[in-house]
Amino acid sequence: MSESAPASNKPVHAPMAQFPVQQGELIVGGQRLSVLAERVGQTPFYAYDRGLLKARVAQLRAALPAAVKLHYAMKANPMPALVGLMAGLVDGIDVASAGELKVALDAGADPAEISFAGPAKRAVELRQSVAAGVLVNVESERELPLLAEASQALGLPARVALRVNPDFELKGSGMKMGGGPKQFGIDAEVLPEVMARIGRMAGDGLAFEGFHLFAGSQNLKAESICEAQQKSYELALRLAADAPAPVRFLNLGGGFGIPYFPGETPLELAPIGANLQALVERAARELPQASLVIELGRYLVGEAGVYVARVLDRKISRGQVYLVTDGGLHHHLSASGNFGQVIRKNYPAMLSQTRGETAREAASVVGPLCTPLDLLADRMELTAAQPGDLAVIYQSGAYGASASPQAFLGHGGCPEILV
Ligand SMILES: *Cc1c(COP(=O)(O)O)cnc(C)c1O
Repeated sequence: MSESAPASNKPVHAPMAQFPVQQGELIVGGQRLSVLAERVGQTPFYAYDRGLLKARVAQLRAALPAAVKLHYAMKANPMPALVGLMAGLVDGIDVASAGELKVALDAGADPAEISFAGPAKRAVELRQSVAAGVLVNVESERELPLLAEASQALGLPARVALRVNPDFELKGSGMKMGGGPKQFGIDAEVLPEVMARIGRMAGDGLAFEGFHLFAGSQNLKAESICEAQQKSYELALRLAADAPAPVRFLNLGGGFGIPYFPGETPLELAPIGANLQALVERAARELPQASLVIELGRYLVGEAGVYVARVLDRKISRGQVYLVTDGGLHHHLSASGNFGQVIRKNYPAMLSQTRGETAREAASVVGPLCTPLDLLADRMELTAAQPGDLAVIYQSGAYGASASPQAFLGHGGCPEILV
């Protein structure tokens, strides 16, 4: 028995089998990456695969009870063409600004199935929501008189749900968005009072529809997600006793994660499906008018996208290989490790080339910015590269282009294509 762990025990990235590789080239949406780059007319770019987006929704539909509505949280990827595709696949769209609301409405999403959350909704955004007929997830008492005013001015109901800041957290979550003191939602313990106020304001046009709970994001543990959904349901059921109207909408949040880093493995859907089925059955008895909703961002779109940058230079510094590319943190902040990560780790990556190269070498993929933070892959084993080859960052369909400082250093924005 050896004392030290063999090299093969080093954590590795989950296999990125969603995109085929043919003779060294990545295939996206059935097309060779080198040809897609020509079609775009430049590098870098983001490419999203329609077939994979459809397959992901189908996989979720098969794993979750039919009675659970599936919403797309479009802040994960607000590209209008992609939102248009998603609007036709899911049951509703969750928006977080008037800008996103416009994209969702333009995409043809049914306003009855759009909900608007966000901690700092401006008065005009609340008015736009009432005019559009979408559901507002109220995060502060401040929004109530503004919504009532809009309702009276427009002669339309103000549809409201209450975003609950629960008294628990989503365990093992990348980003916690509920529990303890938070800027999101209204603390569960003060909600009975707020609901009484909404009841008194029914004559002012406030139409109560239900609750929105969102405990956190990027979770890869099915049991943590099940626990959060269970607790969210229990909390909503307790709150429903004081609700001014029957609960028709119960958003249990999401938080489904995707594997980004070495050692991470895909989320198991089966236990989540079974747990939701039990909740659907309970809701049929306890909250008979309620639709259960889950809202997902990255799980729906993250794995269907790649970021593609061209190798401009292969540079060796004191024995270490640097692939200097035209893409970097200004387009893909999260792959550089600067979007909320505590310890920088590599996203899965590959080197796409048409030269029939088979040799592998350890290389760092860097960008054009004058900062050492501009690092897309740190000493990763990749196909040996030459200038002209394409460096590909996987798991890039969410929190990429729109979540990056594209103006930083003036290299220009990044096109996105849906293939
Ligand atoms: C960001 C956010 C989401 C989406 O999170 P993902 O990790 O992309 O699934 C869903 N709901 C709310 C309220 C959010 O703020």
